[in-house]
Amino acid sequence: MTEQITTVSAYAAPAANAPLERTTVPRRAVGEFDVLIDIKYAGICHSDIHQARDGWGEGIFPMVPGHEIAGVVAEVGPGVTKFAVGDRVGVGCMVDSCRECDNCKAGLEQYCVRGNVPTYNGLDHSGEPTYGGYSTHIVVDEAFTVGIPEGISLDVAAPLLCAGITTYSPLKRFHAGPGKKVAVVGLGGLGHMAVKIAHALGAEVTVLSQSLRKKDDGLRLGAEHYYATSDDATFEQLAGSFDMILSTVSAPLPLDKYLGLLRSEGAFVNVGAPEEPVSLNLFSVIGGGKTLAGSMIGGIAETQEMLDFCAEHGLGSEIELIRAEQVNEAYERVLASDVRYRFVIDAATI
Ligand code: NAP
Ligand code: ZN
Ligand code: ZN
Repeated sequence: MTEQITTVSAYAAPAANAPLERTTVPRRAVGEFDVLIDIKYAGICHSDIHQARDGWGEGIFPMVPGHEIAGVVAEVGPGVTKFAVGDRVGVGCMVDSCRECDNCKAGLEQYCVRGNVPTYNGLDHSGEPTYGGYSTHIVVDEAFTVGIPEGISLDVAAPLLCAGITTYSPLKRFHAGPGKKVAVVGLGGLGHMAVKIAHALGAEVTVLSQSLRKKDDGLRLGAEHYYATSDDATFEQLAGSFDMILSTVSAPLPLDKYLGLLRSEGAFVNVGAPEEPVSLNLFSVIGGGKTLAGSMIGGIAETQEMLDFCAEHGLGSEIELIRAEQVNEAYERVLASDVRYRFVIDAATI
């Protein structure tokens, strides 16, 4: 980073539950292996809202959310080999890890046993707070930066850095593909990417949404079937149907009811991160030998693989582009499940 840029514009929550407002935050000088990214777009993930409202606890304020970052490399450190000035790049939910533990070595940096460094609401290796993508620039180690293929424009690519990888990774791990029936619960930011990706992988996709309000969209995005979970008949009609259920729901779900929708040896995979615990009757997994699993984002190499997959299949996010000052209004709309299907901040307005 050129010496004179030490602070950059950003949108921050000054305290838990306080509206976000324009401010400035420091960015470190460009180190040997760092890239300075001129941020073009930042997606709004529901995790930003959980954290800005301190729903998960232990939030660090002021907080600059944003872990769906797409931009262009503006400067590189002398040791950088992966990227050059002008390259289109992305940054997701983490900006570093220990790089030495078994998980890091296996490409599972998201499960670093020493804890990865989150893109925001965390502390970096020098103990300084990290600030996320609702900002004009960010400095990130090249090892935690991925390339955005030419085929995807940066605005619709930004949400892939969290919503894309968070759904791609478990869909691959649980073998979503031809001959497999996959249900996606919740048609929001993650859910709409799950539908697109599972369809592109060749699975037969069903959306389970609270209502039929977004049915036309769900079918257009690649689902073959669409049911309302507010209707109890759905649970009778679909009992024992699915090989895999991927839940992207941000609120607690009645798990026993959903486990009843799995075939024997099917898997319910949860990526939603509700603020309250859920209850479970263990007979719901014993009967039928079912799997209840979780998944958190994906590793760096897998994130690059996901971006390449999306480019190859022409997949991007469905977005509503907003100005930075609309962020608080956008948060309210996400909380009301009124998002089609990802808000993306135009960083030029920050
Ligand atoms: P989102 O856009 O708000 O989508 C969540 C969807 O869940 C809503 O669109 C809605 O879909 C459904 N929903 C919301 N409240 C519900 C309720 N009370 N009962 C049933 N369904 C409900 O959020 P997102 O950005 O996709 O994130 C979803 C969750 O995943 C959040 O908790 C987020 O923190 C978490 N997350 C986890 C990871 C990870 O690594 N595991 C990564 C990113 C995000 P319908 O309108 O279709 O019902
Ligand atoms: Zn996210
Ligand atoms: Zn590690």
